[in-house]
Amino acid sequence: MMVRWAIPLLLVGCEADPCAPQPRQDEAMEAVWYDGYTRASAPPGVSWSFSACPSKPDDPRTAVVDQDGMCYSGRTYLGWACPSEVAWRGSFGRSAFAHELMHYAQGLDGVHDPDHKRLDDWKLSIEMDARLIGLGL
Ligand SMILES: [Zn+2]
Repeated sequence: MMVRWAIPLLLVGCEADPCAPQPRQDEAMEAVWYDGYTRASAPPGVSWSFSACPSKPDDPRTAVVDQDGMCYSGRTYLGWACPSEVAWRGSFGRSAFAHELMHYAQGLDGVHDPDHKRLDDWKLSIEMDARLIGLGL
């Protein structure tokens, strides 16, 4: 019985962490999640995409690509193992990092705002992008 369980556990242990952070992500998270958004709860795990958008081969930016081939700068779903998925565009401030963290924060508050109608929230998220860039993040 022990042997039967040992093999799957070893395989799981060898998989790459899907929420593996980018270098200095802890600093970026501190600036946005804890300081900017004044959150005390745990931030979301973030998975990073380094893929180009298949339907836009001339666009040099990376994208999050869904199963239907739709491309996004990021997306967030509280039920995912890594709730925020973000296209890495060279730095945190130039990626949709702060934006997706805002979606996650709203989700924790029971707010669903896919059309970005809560303007104060989105203004703050844009300010966080500038802050990150100012910090060299
Ligand atoms: Zn959004």
